[in-house]
Amino acid sequence: MEIQRTVKENYYRVDPKFKYKVLKASGGETFKFCYQCGTCTATCPVARFTDVFRPNKIIHLAKLGIRDVAHSDAVWLCVNCYSCTERCPQGVKVADVMRLLKNLAVEEGHIPEFSKEFMKNIVKTGFVYSIPSSRIKKREALGLPPPPQTKLTDLKKLAEILKISELIE
Ligand code: SF4
Ligand code: SF4
Repeated sequence: MEIQRTVKENYYRVDPKFKYKVLKASGGETFKFCYQCGTCTATCPVARFTDVFRPNKIIHLAKLGIRDVAHSDAVWLCVNCYSCTERCPQGVKVADVMRLLKNLAVEEGHIPEFSKEFMKNIVKTGFVYSIPSSRIKKREALGLPPPPQTKLTDLKKLAEILKISELIE
């Protein structure tokens, strides 16, 4: 997992107050119960495909007060499927912790480029990526219905309320 370290000294920056920030946020109150069994990572569909994303490691680093974990692009790989939360034997709301780490990162002005691209595409097309016409034709050939249409006007209004363009810029 790529976590930013200080360049000169090559150690993680520790903020002893960081875990309290996580604990106070909605969904973060359970993360102190983690005992590192690794069930979340074994369950996670994303961790199955990449070794840069290990939910149990992220929880561990956050508990240690390593706030750089929120600035790591790794947390943004979480797709909030909630499989980990369902299976955690300690009742840790792992998916909520991932979401709030992302929120903390956004508060500090950090959004990885790939997430910005997703946001742009959602506002423009309603999907995280522009579906190529070849894919739509393939669906037709297979007798599948076209992808569901999003009300782009509503989406644009929502993006304005959430100030998405400011976040992206
Ligand atoms: S499943 Fe729960 S207790 Fe186990 S490592 Fe993940 S968060 Fe911690
Ligand atoms: S919610 Fe995120 S961390 Fe949990 S299993 Fe799904 S992708 Fe993995």
